[in-house]
Amino acid sequence: MKNQFVYNFNDGNKEMKNILGGKGANLAEMKKIGLPVPPGFTITTEACNKYYEDNKKVDSQIIEEIYENLKKMEKETGKIFGNPDKPLLVSVRSGSVISMPGMMDTVLNLGLNDKTVEGLSELTNNFKFAYDSYRRFIQMFGDVVLGIPKYKFDGILESIKIKNEYEDNTELNKSDLKELIEKYKDLVKKEIKSDFPQDPNKQLIMAVDAVFDSWNNARATVYRNLNEIPHHLGTAVNIQSMVFGNLGNTSGTGVAFTRNPSTGENKIFGEFLINAQGEDVVAGIRTPKPIEDLKDIMPDSYNEFIKVTHILEKHYKDMQDIEFTIEKSKLYLLQTRTGKRTAKAAVNIAVDMVHEGLIDKNTGIMRIDPKQIDQLLHPSFKPKELEQAELLAKGLPASPGAASGRVFFTSEDVIKAATKGEKAILVRVETSPEDIEGMVNAQGILTARGGMTSHAAVVARGMGKCCVAGCSELRVEEHNKQFKINDITITEGDYISLDGNTGNVYKDIIETQETKMIGSFAKIMEWSDSVRKLQVRANADTPKDSIVSVEFGAEGIGLCRTEHMFFKDNRILAVREMIISRTVEDRKRALEKLLPYQKEDFIGIFEAMAGRPVTIRLLDPPLHEFLPHKEEDIRLLAKDINIEFEKLKVIIDDLKEVNPMLGHRGCRLAITYPEIYEMQVKAIIMAAIELKQNKNMDIKPEIMIPLIGHSKELEIIKNLVCNTANRILENEDIKLNYSVGTMIEIPRAALIADEIAEHAEFFSFGTNDLTQMALGFSRDDSGKFINEYREKEIFSHDPFARLDQSGVGKLVEIAVKLGKEARPDIKLGICGEHGGDPQSIEFFHKVGLHYISCSPYRVPIARLAAAQSAIKNM
Ligand code: ADP
Ligand code: MG
Ligand code: MG
Repeated sequence: MKNQFVYNFNDGNKEMKNILGGKGANLAEMKKIGLPVPPGFTITTEACNKYYEDNKKVDSQIIEEIYENLKKMEKETGKIFGNPDKPLLVSVRSGSVISMPGMMDTVLNLGLNDKTVEGLSELTNNFKFAYDSYRRFIQMFGDVVLGIPKYKFDGILESIKIKNEYEDNTELNKSDLKELIEKYKDLVKKEIKSDFPQDPNKQLIMAVDAVFDSWNNARATVYRNLNEIPHHLGTAVNIQSMVFGNLGNTSGTGVAFTRNPSTGENKIFGEFLINAQGEDVVAGIRTPKPIEDLKDIMPDSYNEFIKVTHILEKHYKDMQDIEFTIEKSKLYLLQTRTGKRTAKAAVNIAVDMVHEGLIDKNTGIMRIDPKQIDQLLHPSFKPKELEQAELLAKGLPASPGAASGRVFFTSEDVIKAATKGEKAILVRVETSPEDIEGMVNAQGILTARGGMTSHAAVVARGMGKCCVAGCSELRVEEHNKQFKINDITITEGDYISLDGNTGNVYKDIIETQETKMIGSFAKIMEWSDSVRKLQVRANADTPKDSIVSVEFGAEGIGLCRTEHMFFKDNRILAVREMIISRTVEDRKRALEKLLPYQKEDFIGIFEAMAGRPVTIRLLDPPLHEFLPHKEEDIRLLAKDINIEFEKLKVIIDDLKEVNPMLGHRGCRLAITYPEIYEMQVKAIIMAAIELKQNKNMDIKPEIMIPLIGHSKELEIIKNLVCNTANRILENEDIKLNYSVGTMIEIPRAALIADEIAEHAEFFSFGTNDLTQMALGFSRDDSGKFINEYREKEIFSHDPFARLDQSGVGKLVEIAVKLGKEARPDIKLGICGEHGGDPQSIEFFHKVGLHYISCSPYRVPIARLAAAQSAIKNM
């Protein structure tokens, strides 16, 4: 059987989106359920792909099918295409599989020419209408098909309106319209060096070509990239007989949502225009009226329309976005689709529809886009204020939220400002672990360098703090305490605002609004928890973050990093002493000073988590990160710890590494300096003992060793950990359940996970490092080329944001399989950035991990995404 490339609206339905596109499939569906849809047919997306395969030529078989269907349309309407006595006019409309509102082009009133316009005028006895339709057609065809900029037509129209002092297009009279059309035709002739095409058949095929071409116009391509819509889908073309909203005061056109798309309120929300054609509503030439007003102007049509909106919502079981036209009091439907909505509207609508019995809970859960949830958790700018704000620059939307404050360029200055109660924004070329305190005290963080997984981005997301990173237009002059964007200079103390959802940087203060996890949102979370299989933990390293995590529903801590604690208060001095120690004794002495601090840290976190599991990772980063690098700072340190400057400088230089990420870090630190982990284990165990003795709390610490690549490493360190812990427990004569496990973040560890599992009670996949090492992409530098990799479709996503399933994912699968073989009851989790990414979460669900761990503010997203993964894979 030969392929069918054209389907009549009578032969399609809503399940045929893939070939008919959303618009075509839904027009057919509306027809099927008996709603008034003007006759028409759809040229399939396969025809579009064939068009491109055939070097942008519409195949003759397809043309034949188009004319067969046009004949049918003539029969149904009693009008004839190109016949001046009873002209059939059509619209040529694009329609892709996934809706791309307004991204591609539409032509209305096709079939008009110098002759048929006269016929239309006589037939309707309405000259103004006929000529208004013709001038619209020339303009749209000129713009969409012939590529003549719209503003050139608009200019001609404007000049005639100005000449006659008209405010509205509807005031144009017979001779104005005639003049306008002649001028339009002159413009076309001047631009394309030939006359406006008069043959309707030629017009039709040219328009079909143009719609196919519009699939690859710049606007559509950018939209697809932004919304992750594949480029190979192609667009369908809908040819539909025209109905006219511009036939006088009993005609009109409008757009309506069955529920409010910004709040979710169950009340029709829309706009309409009397005596107008579709494009007028969106184009903003005339200000439309609220849909409620239609009730007074055309009560019968209004009531019928309301009835139809109920039918459509019941039928599709979702909020609909509907286009309609009223021709001489008769209602026609021209489009319906699932309405786009804000996160707030999405949760409200889903919960309402479950309560109304329209959908079940699982469907309700599936209706929410986890990516959107961010909007509900972070403050946002008040939309009105935002409209008036002055945009300075655009960076990466590294961590959501909205923040305003005074600009400061060092951590210390931010802290100073914050203690005075001022709102501060930390601006840096890029942040380092030394900036943590400043980041904590800032409202938001702005960096000129670094990608979505740069230090600033990861830490800010962890804190739930607004961050715009990699803002490359920014020239930060930290020494001058100012930054420049083009010719604008912002100096210390000036106000700026950051939008972490868009990456926009604005001048001055913009007012914000808060959102909370209550009402419908809380309900969706509750339902999600009842279906998900994955447990959700948080990455948190302070009591404050732990409390936030629990509030957001975390069931434990999957990653408690211990390095940030080392920067707090005055303990950095002890840390530095420890690092530069040249003898074991010196090192032990310095570590003794740190012990009480570490113990307090863990007590705080254990208490905040109230008995929930806490996985503590022992020290991981290269030691030189804790040392000062500027000469003046080194001098200060030398004085503080009473050592000669020259000597200290040599030690610090000695610690420098060419490639610190692959250097002396992670468990390697403990292989060479076991005292460090020994102190940390002591602190953990002593904290747990103290809580048991004083508060009768039953803590089961999970001690995690980073960067294991060889089972022997783990064996040695595990012995160290257990000996240290058991010695204390025996001394105190206390029993405590602690466990020891490891991160899987070096590819070798994944490949020999069975050997590793002999010494590990749990695995936690450190997918940031695992990605970095499996790909050989530096996390800190990949920002420079990753976009090009995405553009060239080498990677469809940033592999640091979404797990590379075919490569890194395979390592995870291997490790899961080997780990379970060696130790069937091994506990498996993941604590990399991917733990907050919905697609990656689905992968983790499928490979059978027990939990995911992500930054506190992503916990609700992870709960929802885990539930959706469970529902999808039931
Ligand atoms: P978009 O996808 O940009 O909304 P559409 O193809 O839906 O483009 O059409 C643009 C406008 O033209 C809409 O307002 C639509 O309702 C109107 N329109 C399309 N086809 C017809 C038709 N056959 N009769 C009357 N109006 C139409
Ligand atoms: Mg539309
Ligand atoms: Mg790591």
